[in-house]
Amino acid sequence: MTVEKPTGTLCPSSLAEPGAILIGIVGDDGCVAHIATEMTVEETFLERAKVHGPPERRFRFGAPCQQQLCSHWTGSECDLIGQLHFYASSEGLLSQEKALPHCAIRNRCRWWAQRGKEACATCIYVVTDAT
Ligand code: SF4
Repeated sequence: MTVEKPTGTLCPSSLAEPGAILIGIVGDDGCVAHIATEMTVEETFLERAKVHGPPERRFRFGAPCQQQLCSHWTGSECDLIGQLHFYASSEGLLSQEKALPHCAIRNRCRWWAQRGKEACATCIYVVTDAT
């Protein structure tokens, strides 16, 4: 089955659902390796990924920002990236010298639109399902 590519502003920490864009893989060090080429995931990929637990523990997905349907939406922006950036910064994880990672969704990313390079510096430490 073919799925349509998502449009509009994308959440870079979305659930694993058909039509989402695979944007990264969580490595053994807990950091996300970005996938620069846009790849829309289908049910077959997700079924295989779920065999090993929630895909959001090992992959990152981008899909349309849910805005009012999401608990992180303040009414005008996403508060999650600010919280995550504060945490990563206070843990000394961030280096401003790092080059921007290749990213399949940067020009449509909600976090990039709000915080630019700060968002990218934080994004590599984000695991959507960290349970
Ligand atoms: S408000 Fe933030 S966390 Fe919620 S869907 Fe949008 S970008 Fe993702």
